[in-house]
Amino acid sequence: MALVVQKYGGTSMGSVERIRNVAKRVAKTYDAGNDMVIVVSAMSGETNKLVALANEICEFPDNREYDVLVASGEQVSIALLAMCLKSMGYKAKSYHGWQVPVITDSAFSKARIEEIPDTKIRADLKDGTIVIVAGFQGIDREGNVTTLGRGGSDTSAVALAAAMKADVCEIYTDVDGVYTTDPNICQDARKIEKVSYDEMLELASLGAKVLQIRSVEFAKKYNVDVHVRSSFNDNPGTMVTKEDKDMEAVLVSGIAYDKNEAKIAVMGVPDKPGIAAKILSPLSDANISVDMIVQNASEGGLTDFTFTVTKADFKKALAITREVAKEINAKEIAEDENISKISIVGVGMRSHAGVATKMFQTLAKEGINIQMISTSEIKVSVVIDAKYTELAVRVLHDAFGLSGK
Ligand code: ADP
Ligand code: ASP
Ligand code: MG
Repeated sequence: MALVVQKYGGTSMGSVERIRNVAKRVAKTYDAGNDMVIVVSAMSGETNKLVALANEICEFPDNREYDVLVASGEQVSIALLAMCLKSMGYKAKSYHGWQVPVITDSAFSKARIEEIPDTKIRADLKDGTIVIVAGFQGIDREGNVTTLGRGGSDTSAVALAAAMKADVCEIYTDVDGVYTTDPNICQDARKIEKVSYDEMLELASLGAKVLQIRSVEFAKKYNVDVHVRSSFNDNPGTMVTKEDKDMEAVLVSGIAYDKNEAKIAVMGVPDKPGIAAKILSPLSDANISVDMIVQNASEGGLTDFTFTVTKADFKKALAITREVAKEINAKEIAEDENISKISIVGVGMRSHAGVATKMFQTLAKEGINIQMISTSEIKVSVVIDAKYTELAVRVLHDAFGLSGK
């Protein structure tokens, strides 16, 4: 008998019919003699609707209440799945994050899981009950409802698998696994059989939303093998696991894109020590993460300082930056929401030169201008005009020989 943690995403839970399909899959694994903990997301589209409501009611929704609102989508899913399983004759029980409890810090809308006491779940499992946990949500030590950031149910599942030392952790989604790039924008994308934690961390943080980045951090830290697969068929999916020799032989294993960032440029800033900290610290004080940063060479003692933030943080970041710009006597602020970040990722890059050059040449050939660049040991990212996203992904996919054919 094994302890199996399965997570079903929004599309898999997207309608009554699909929830029935999930219940059948769960029942099949349970009937084979396994203990089951199921994590579910809100039905597809529901979280977006809740976010839109929050943004409609006021310009800057209160952080605490925002989490109370968006956590509600998952409440519907756990109840429906539990009802369905019970109607099929199984013992099942639904849990909110706080009921488990999934204990997090207090960073509303991007809370981190700190601890998951499993006494209640263990007791249910012993009793033959299928436990169904709401993904995406938790509770902080003051008793406030928290959420883990968009796509956070993946993290709920992997954290539960780690906390309970599960034998199997499966993430069921609407594609067959992790592909060389998003199969929904590139028909030639190929399924990857095995991907290392580090590569998946980069792919996830660079926009491949098939797994939330924090779920991969948990998987790596606690050595959880994560099997990403489809809830619509029985095909083997992708194993996210420890790095091995075969993986290093591949130069670029995947390409990610992210249209979810926006750019803010503070222009005509006096080029003095401490200016970067002056611009960026009010943002970090407001819990806003900055991603790419570029500071131009100065001309006549003035420089331009450009950075990107997520679109969700954009309005707030812009308001804060406008204030700072006044204080430091910057000439003007420019903003651009029509950008996209394209990244190539592969552990093989560590030992091969020229990968970045090939990327830049490939984009240049298509007349795609690069606005910002950042690199790490196993990735190169560039910011380009959003309208070239699909084209850039496709030509790079081809140039690095990733196509299925
Ligand atoms: P779920 O609702 O199951 O959590 P998501 O929509 O969050 O599903 O993630 C699955 C989606 O991730 C796919 O439909 C696909 O469009 C997208 N995706 C982006 N990059 C990749 C990739 N490299 N491999 C697979 N899917 C990807
Ligand atoms: N329902 C949440 C979201 O849409 C969490 C998740 O799907 O993982 O972001
Ligand atoms: Mg997801």
